[in-house]
Amino acid sequence: MAVRKVLVAGAGGFIGHHLVKALKAQGHWVRGVDIKQPEYEPSPADEFLVVDLRHFEHCARAVIGVDDAYQLAADMGGIGYISANHASLTRNNILINSHMLEASRLAGVERYLYTSSACIYPGYKQKEAGITPLREEDAMPADPEKGYGWEKLFAEELTKYYAEDHGLDVRIVRFHNIYGPLGTYDGGREKSPAAIMRKIAAAPDGGTIEVWGDGEQTRSYCYIDDCVEGLLRIMESGYSNPINLGRDEMVSINELVDTVASVAGKTIKKRYETTKPQGVRGRNSDNTLQRDILGWEPKVNLRDGLARTYPWIWSQLDQAGRAHAPRPTVPATPVARAT
Ligand code: NAD
Repeated sequence: MAVRKVLVAGAGGFIGHHLVKALKAQGHWVRGVDIKQPEYEPSPADEFLVVDLRHFEHCARAVIGVDDAYQLAADMGGIGYISANHASLTRNNILINSHMLEASRLAGVERYLYTSSACIYPGYKQKEAGITPLREEDAMPADPEKGYGWEKLFAEELTKYYAEDHGLDVRIVRFHNIYGPLGTYDGGREKSPAAIMRKIAAAPDGGTIEVWGDGEQTRSYCYIDDCVEGLLRIMESGYSNPINLGRDEMVSINELVDTVASVAGKTIKKRYETTKPQGVRGRNSDNTLQRDILGWEPKVNLRDGLARTYPWIWSQLDQAGRAHAPRPTVPATPVARAT
């Protein structure tokens, strides 16, 4: 494979940091940019710029000399965070995405990958827990998640306009709930799997954790290694329309809690907190297009991915004196792949 000069915007974040590691492992030259360094371990990027991508001149600096740009920088978090920050989050992300596209065009970036979200899918398609999986064409007519989802959908459109009007070679990837080690697990920006793993790690055997909603809302979750492999495959695919990147193994939040408890080796009771935000009632990824375009789809099943992630969250809590026994062990064998 030819060595490329690659920009990862958002390289201080969860997915961006893992992506930098994968690109470096493939031998590419990588520039990471973010408003902060990665939290838990140093970035292996050849160059790491701490910049604020809401400013055009910082975006212009970020894209100098690169062949490929992966745009993952965003103000984001779990449902609690995105529901409480509509104005600031939407403004921040509009600025980042508009400036990154224009800077990339001006710098002659060859390939530009934008990371969107399942939050762009319309609310009217997600009112039942037993939802039909979401296909890429379901995005319109638009009724996305307030704030975060509207901005993601708008930025998808803007990315397409740059392809149409300026010939920018784009990719548009819709993530469905990515989780894994080194992801945010505390502080309000964490998403449901990390929040549940943190609560169970901090609970004694036989203890009770708070669950938002009645626990019957459904989601699908994709392990970080599959996410990174999917990103690299989509960049190589040449496919420029929006494409889902997620798994289609849908579970309720109650099932997610029970699976984490089983991985943790604990008996856990649930206390339902129905005043907290829950997001849509049901969401799942339709992977038909992924299979057709990539000849591949994410393979790590939920239980195996949780078994890889829980020990990392437990050890983080343990360092802060907050973890409860038993101490988990990371599975020694490679993660089992679903057929
Ligand atoms: P993350 O929060 O860990 O990473 C995003 C990074 O963007 C952070 O490191 C943050 O510091 C950086 N950033 C924010 N504002 C910035 C600014 N002004 N200038 C420079 N950097 C800035 O999130 P993630 O989970 O790694 O998500 C990466 C991308 O994928 C985001 O665009 C997110 O919206 C999208 N996404 C993620 C998921 C998921 O499940 N994790 C789901 C759907 C979409």
